Amino acid sequence: MMKLTFLGSGSAFTVGDGNYHSNMLLESEESKKKLLIDCGSDARFSLYEQGISPEEINDIYLSHLHADHVGGLEWLAFISKYHVNPFKLCLHLHPELKEELWKILSVSLNPFNDPNIDLTSNFSIDLIENNQFIWEGIEFIVFPTTHIHSDTQKMPSFGLFFTIRGKRILLTTDTCILLPTQEKLYQKADLILHDCETKQEKSGVHAHYSELRALDPAIKKKMWLYHYQPGSLPNAEQDGFLGFIKKGQSFLF
Ligand SMILES: [Zn+2]
Ligand SMILES: [Zn+2]
Repeated sequence: MMKLTFLGSGSAFTVGDGNYHSNMLLESEESKKKLLIDCGSDARFSLYEQGISPEEINDIYLSHLHADHVGGLEWLAFISKYHVNPFKLCLHLHPELKEELWKILSVSLNPFNDPNIDLTSNFSIDLIENNQFIWEGIEFIVFPTTHIHSDTQKMPSFGLFFTIRGKRILLTTDTCILLPTQEKLYQKADLILHDCETKQEKSGVHAHYSELRALDPAIKKKMWLYHYQPGSLPNAEQDGFLGFIKKGQSFLF
């Protein structure tokens, strides 16, 4: 069995309200291996709350470079380096994120610009090739999302599509609605875990509840929503969704 747990299901600005950033942990119940999907600045609290110590984590996937997705990485890098039994986490990293990630981390991981220090000094790096990586025998298809964007440019950001025991799972990570260009992913998936902002005004960088509500009922009935704002939520079940994911909620595959 594989277990996917939402360490938190809130937006970047989530403070209090019983939630944390939308980071997830996928664990194999057989091998006990653990893949952390995004590591935001809340991660040390959200992992602790689920009873997970940093040394139990084996691998990390990063969707993009916002602090609610990578802000906890410096903490993990130092913990692993200065642990009683030092260990190296394997970072499954999209090539388009590599240079900018090191710019962020090198401020503290390489303060004196030592040319012999780079990302591999703290992590073992699995650079993603051909938009896929394998973890515990599962093939993860990495697809570009439209998150922060102008008319001509997109900040690199990547969602996941993967299959466990025949179940096809779409985990969008931060994205605008996948219409019309990536609509096929909605049809192909058996389970959709979708970014959803719930504030009144549309930010234009996340899928908004009102846009998702207008989707085909057949798509909505296999869709869970997360990365929402603190405060009251609409009645997602009544609108045809599976619901809003709560902090600590798990999915078994
Ligand atoms: Zn986010
Ligand atoms: Zn983001």
